[in-house]
Parts: sequence; C-alpha cells; structure tokens
Amino acid sequence: MRPTVLCFSGLDPSGGAGLQADIEAIGQSGAHAAIACTALTIQNSQQVFGFEATSKELLLAQANAVVGDLPIRCVKSGMLGTTDNIAALAEFLQQHPDYLYVLDPVLVANSGGSLGDQATLVKAFVKLIPLATIITPNTVELRALTGLEDIEQATAQLFNMGAKAVLVKGGHEDTPEHIRNALYIEGELVSETTCARLEGEYHGSGCSLASFIAGRLAQGDNIQQAVNHAETWLFHVLQQAESPTPNGQKIPKRF
Ligand code: PLP
Repeated sequence: MRPTVLCFSGLDPSGGAGLQADIEAIGQSGAHAAIACTALTIQNSQQVFGFEATSKELLLAQANAVVGDLPIRCVKSGMLGTTDNIAALAEFLQQHPDYLYVLDPVLVANSGGSLGDQATLVKAFVKLIPLATIITPNTVELRALTGLEDIEQATAQLFNMGAKAVLVKGGHEDTPEHIRNALYIEGELVSETTCARLEGEYHGSGCSLASFIAGRLAQGDNIQQAVNHAETWLFHVLQQAESPTPNGQKIPKRF
C-alpha cells in the first residue's frame, strides 16, 4: 500500500480547493490520501456562502477509524473551521508523534470568503505551530498569525512560536511579474524560488501545494526536496487551470 497522508480538510463543492484538491494533489505526488472532513462549505469558484463545521467528536472518530488501518506517514491540515477542531487535531497529533505534519494555516478562501472566525482561529493555531514539520502560510496568513507586518520579522516570530520549517508563499505580495517563495528551516533561509506570475486568480492553489508537499514527505523526501517537487508540479497545473466562468477563479487541472 502506498504511504498515506491523512488530511484534515473541508469539502468545497466546486472541487477547486479543500479535500478534493488534497486528494488529487496527493494522488499525483504518488501517495494515498485519506480524509477526516472538518466542514462542509457552501461555495463556488466565485464566493463562499457559508459552512457547517464537523463536531470535534465526529472529526476525531473519522481520523481514529483509519489509524492502524492505513499506513499513515503524514497528516496535512487545511480548513479546520473551529477552535474545537484545532484543539482536536492538536490532541490527535500529540497521540501520534511519529506522524509528519504539514500545517496549511487556512484562514480565508482565496475568493475572500470567511472559513471561520479569523481572530479565534489565529489564537488556536498557536497550539499547532510547534507540532508541524512544515507550515505553509501565504503572506496574509503569516502577518495574521504573528501580528507583524514585516515579512522577515513575521517569519522570525513564527520560529519563536515553535515553528520548525516555514514556506512563505509570496503570491499575495505586490510583485506583478513574479512570485517569490522562501523556505526557512530552523530559522535559516535554505532556498528561494521565483516563478512568473500567471494571469488570473486560482482556487485551491494553496491546498494543492501543501498536499503535494505532504505526499512527497510521506514517501521519504526531505523538506527541501518535497517543496521543490511541489512547486514545480503546482506551476504546471496552474498553467493548465480551467476557468469555469469569466468572473470565477480558475480551477487547477491537477491531472
Ligand atoms: N479549504 C477549503 C474547504 C476551502 O474552501 C478553501 C478555499 O476556498 C481552502 C481550503 C483554501 O484554498 P486556497 O488553496 O485557495 O487557499
């Protein structure tokens, strides 16, 4: 059986983001994806209309049902929705210290819609930060998590909060021609990649990247290899992304 990534993520009915992005990206990375569903969202490629979060009991029951059944090597989290779900995941990870863990600190959808109360989620994420093998914030999430505007200071602060490795994604920065991502391990910058900025907005790019990293880590890549593989793959699937409607975000064509 392929090494498995257990994802704690929400359902996006458009299929662009959330658990469908996770399943597709992890499958493309060569690993198997299992899901503990955190929430059912109501959204399309243009906006979020609402969501209903899973109870923490139901979330943990889903996760515990596959522990011991599947060869889980890595956990990946995306939308968690409530502070109860964040606390439940922290408890779960503490019970399984051998699992690698990719934390994608999702606060809002790329379309701008709410996926939970940002202020309470930020406070609760503090528990998850020291448990993560790697954290993959965009710069909006990095600033929200640390309360600091300056990217370098905010990254340093995330390490003070217990982070082990951080991939800072520059897609939300005002760089019209390119996007710069920076990977830090133990507080040190270990690699930077710059790619051309593709036209348009993409739905589920962050989920896809974090999940591909998780899939590669599950198969034995080190952090730097996993990130390099994931960035190359993501650029390719975004180049092929499809526009459902002129007003919507593009949906990555992951295979
Ligand atoms: N998870 C769910 C369920 C979502 O609906 C979204 C965005 O809509 C995300 C995660 C984050 O998506 P992105 O990868 O675009 O940041």
